[in-house]
Amino acid sequence: MARRNHGGPTSAPSGTPSPATPAATPGRQREIVWGSAYQLTTWYASAYPAEYDSAEVLHICDRCFKYMRKEATLHRHLAECQQLTPPGLELYSDHGQPSQPTKQLHQPRLQSLRIFEVDGKAHKLYGQNLALFGKLFLENKTVSYDIDRFYFYVLTRTFTSDGVTAVQVLGYFSKEKASLEQHNLACIVVFPPFQGQGHGQLLIDLSYTLTRREGGSGTPERPLSAQAERSYRTYWQKAVLSALHEHSREYYALDRLCRQTGMTGDDVMTTLYRLGLVQHWHSQAVLCIPKDDLQQRIDRVNISRFPILKPRALRDWTWDSVSP
Ligand SMILES: [Zn+2]
Repeated sequence: MARRNHGGPTSAPSGTPSPATPAATPGRQREIVWGSAYQLTTWYASAYPAEYDSAEVLHICDRCFKYMRKEATLHRHLAECQQLTPPGLELYSDHGQPSQPTKQLHQPRLQSLRIFEVDGKAHKLYGQNLALFGKLFLENKTVSYDIDRFYFYVLTRTFTSDGVTAVQVLGYFSKEKASLEQHNLACIVVFPPFQGQGHGQLLIDLSYTLTRREGGSGTPERPLSAQAERSYRTYWQKAVLSALHEHSREYYALDRLCRQTGMTGDDVMTTLYRLGLVQHWHSQAVLCIPKDDLQQRIDRVNISRFPILKPRALRDWTWDSVSP
């Protein structure tokens, strides 16, 4: 099968847009072969063992993320790999994705988007390999080998191509099982071939859905990459405006906005300031939302597709079933 090449910062990807390709760490780019379909140029260094890091091209399974030095080894592995889906609990299953209209007879037909929760303690090798791969596209993060402390929420798409059904991993976010600092997300990455399609917003929405189910509020671990910062700002604006829209009252309470969104008070306030909805009156911050103005803002950011996760696609589970 011909591989689709998705380049890094100095090699613009063709096909799928990659609007936020960052500047890479100098000297850190390298070529990898990912499964049978993709050849990628990485953006940042990871922490693969030295004997693999020194290989001219690293070969990585797109199902279990096992890494290999030689192409022939990858081919043999792909024929035998038993990891058809990420291991763990399926939290989300959206079978309602329409097929993209296409004139190509053999264009893959998307069937569903699914998200799996992988417990790092129960699936240590998968978690380690996934984290090593994700780091190739993540700035400002280190790969923790203490995988036990994390859950990984892995987004996949299932599609049929030439009569064969396959599962493709699109990206993931990790989350500490117990965070003293209200962190509801440690790292988030959507792999380059699948960026610019709203998958990052979907994963962020899941992180806040999990937080609301815990009955608290949360915030992503800092620092955020420029790419993640843009995604979060977009998400926070939609979440806050959607909550204000539901409020529909003269007076708005910060704690209620936090409960509705799952966001921390700091993130809600920062977003309100960015939206220009806060004024100062006698040294006090006052929320000032003329009704016409609110509607205009809501129309501008198009909150009609909010929340992003489809409620009917969320599996019925309780937080007790996924607690550490
Ligand atoms: Zn594999």
